[in-house]
Amino acid sequence: MPIYEYQCNKCGEEFEELVFGKKAVDCPKCSSADVRKKMSTFGMSGVEKPHAGSASGCSSCSKGTCSSCH
Ligand SMILES: [Zn+2]
Repeated sequence: MPIYEYQCNKCGEEFEELVFGKKAVDCPKCSSADVRKKMSTFGMSGVEKPHAGSASGCSSCSKGTCSSCH
């Protein structure tokens, strides 16, 4: 299902909206139709994955601080 993320240009409210066809979307908070579509959140969960230190760690640790890391 097409779920889009919107942000209201008027009050800054962020909300998600299921969009079927060309339904007009308005802000649930202030009812303004002056909203802009953000990127779809489909397939994306969470915000940023924390880097587990895989770039700096060695095969025996993940922090890059053991004796074999350098
Ligand atoms: Zn609003």
